[in-house]
Amino acid sequence: MTDNASSSGSHFIQAIIEADLKAHKNDGRVATRFPPEPNGYLHIGHAKSICLNFGMAETYHGTCNLRFDDTNPTKEDVEYVDAIMEDVHWLGFDWDTRLYYASDYFERLYEFAVELIRAGKAYVDDLSADEIRNHRGTLTEPGKDSPWRNRTIEENLDLFQRMRAGEFDDGTHVLRAKIDMAHPNLIMRDPTLYRIRKTRHHRTGDVWCIYPMYDFTHCLSDSLEGITHSLCTLEFENNRPLYDWVLDNVTAPCHPQQIEFARLNLNYTVLSKRKLIQLVAEGHVSGWDDPRMPTICGLRRRGFTPESIRNFCDRIGLAKRDSVVDMALLEYSIREDLNLRAPRVMGVLKPLKVVIENYPEDQTEELEAINNPEDPGAGVRQLPFSRELYIERDDFMENPPKKFFRLAPGREVRLRYAYFITCREAIKDPDSGEVVELRCTYDPATRGGDAPDGRKVKATLHWVSAPHAVDAEVRLYDRLFNKANPDEKAEGKTYKDFLNPKALEILTGCKLEPCLAGVGPGYFCQFERMGYFCVDAKDSKPGGLVFNRTVTLRDAWAKLQKKGA
Ligand code: ATP
Ligand code: MG
Repeated sequence: MTDNASSSGSHFIQAIIEADLKAHKNDGRVATRFPPEPNGYLHIGHAKSICLNFGMAETYHGTCNLRFDDTNPTKEDVEYVDAIMEDVHWLGFDWDTRLYYASDYFERLYEFAVELIRAGKAYVDDLSADEIRNHRGTLTEPGKDSPWRNRTIEENLDLFQRMRAGEFDDGTHVLRAKIDMAHPNLIMRDPTLYRIRKTRHHRTGDVWCIYPMYDFTHCLSDSLEGITHSLCTLEFENNRPLYDWVLDNVTAPCHPQQIEFARLNLNYTVLSKRKLIQLVAEGHVSGWDDPRMPTICGLRRRGFTPESIRNFCDRIGLAKRDSVVDMALLEYSIREDLNLRAPRVMGVLKPLKVVIENYPEDQTEELEAINNPEDPGAGVRQLPFSRELYIERDDFMENPPKKFFRLAPGREVRLRYAYFITCREAIKDPDSGEVVELRCTYDPATRGGDAPDGRKVKATLHWVSAPHAVDAEVRLYDRLFNKANPDEKAEGKTYKDFLNPKALEILTGCKLEPCLAGVGPGYFCQFERMGYFCVDAKDSKPGGLVFNRTVTLRDAWAKLQKKGA
C-alpha cells in the first residue's frame, strides 16, 4: 500500500492515514483536496500543500480534488483561477474531473445555515463588526452576549431570508452561530457564519449578496465532497473545534478529519499572498512571474523544474511545529536536477576581447566539446575556434594578487577544449585606462587542452569565438531580500526595506557559443563556470535572446556567511 511512499520516510499524516486504512475507516477510502483561495498566485508554500495532498492521494490510491475556496468576491478573480490550475498541472498533478468551487455550494450552504437556525443554533445579529469585536472578550475575560442573541427562530429565519433577498446594506446584519460567548477558545464565541457583501462574484455574478465565512464553508465543502482527511496549516488548529461543531450540528453527509501541519517558511523571501500582492502592485517586481518571486510561475520562469520543486517538498518533510527552511535547500534541489540534465555550453557574460597573435587571420577550426559529463548519451558538439575570442573580463587581472591563478600578463592558461594561451600584452583605453583587449599567443601543440610535454597550467577558462558568437542579454538573479527574516520586527522598518537591490543584474552584450543561435523558450543549459540558465519565456525573441540565471553553480551565500560578510 505504501509502495511509493515519500523518500524522506513516513510522516505523521501517513501514520494517521495508515491507521485509518487499517481500521477500515471511511470504507478504506482516502480523499484529500487542495483548496486555494483565488486571490493571488500560488507560491512555493502552496507547493508543499499540493505535493502533500496530491501525494497522499497517489500513495494510497485515493483521490485529490482541486477546490477553489471562492467565498470572498471582493478579492478574487478568474485570472487567479486560471493561473492556479496552470501551476498545479505544471507541478505534475491532475485533479481529473474533480474540479470544484465552493461557490457551487452556495445554495447547499444556505440550506445548512437555515438548518442551524431552525435548531436554534444560529441567529441574525444587528451589531456592527466593531461592536461584535468589542463583545468578544479576551483570553482572560468572557465575551458578552449580543442583545440580538435570543431572537425567535421565526424572526431569525425571516431576517436571514431578507438578508439573502438584498433588503439590508453591507455590515448591518450577520448570521452567527449560537455557541458560547464564554468559551475558552475565542473562535467558538458565536462566530460569524454569513455576512452581507453586495459585490459581484466572479462566478455567481449578482445572484448572491450574502457570502459564507471560511469556517462555515470549508468543513461543509469537505463534507459534500466526501473528503476523508482535510489537511491544513497549523494556524487553523484553533479553528478545528468549529470545523467539528458545524459538521456535528447539521446533517452533513460525512465528517472529515482536519489535520494540521506546519506551513513552509523560507528565509530571504516572504510567503504571504498579501505581501506578494503588494510587491507586484507597488512595482517592486515586474509581476507575479518575476523570476525573483517565490511564486510557482516566478520559479518556473526563473528555470526551476517541477521535479526540483517536488524533490524539495519531499526533502523538507512534514512537521507539527513551525520552522524556517533555508533557501539554500531550494537552490540545492534545482542544482541537483539540472546537473544531471542541463547541457553544458560556454557563455561569456562580461566579455573581454582576446586576439591570438600567432593564429592565422583567415583560419577557423572545429574543436570537440562534451555536452554533459553527467550524461554520456548527450554526446559531443563542435566548437569553432578562431584568432579573435572573448573571455570573461573577471578572468584577467593586470596585477593579480597571490591567489589569483587565472590570466595575467605573461601567464599561461588553458582555454576549455582548445589550447593553452599566454598573455603577452594588455591593451588599454588611453582615456579610461580600462583594459579593452588582450594580445595572446597560443601553443598549437596543446590542441584539445593538453600539453604533450606534460606542462601544467593552473586555470581553465571558458571562451567564445568572436566572429561566431551569438549575442544575448543575460539576467542574473539573486535572493529577493538581503535579510534572512524580512518579516522580523525592526524599528520603523517593514519587509520592503530589506528588498535586495542586487537581486536583479541585467547584462547586455553577452557572447554565447554559436550552437545557441536557434534556441527559444523551454531551453535550459549550464554556462560552464557561470551557473544554470534558461531562455526567458516572456522577453526572449529570435535575434534578441534573453537568458535568466536560474542558480549559480555553488552556494555563494554560504561562502559569504563564512567570511562574516
Ligand atoms: P497566504 O498565507 O499566502 O495568504 P493562504 O493560506 O491564505 O496563503 P490559500 O489559498 O488559502 O492561501 O491556501 C491554499 C492551501 O495552501 C491551504 O490549505 C493552505 O493551508 C496551504 N498553504 C498556504 N500557504 C502555505 C505554506 N506556506 N506552507 C504550506 N501550505 C500552505
Ligand atoms: Mg487561506
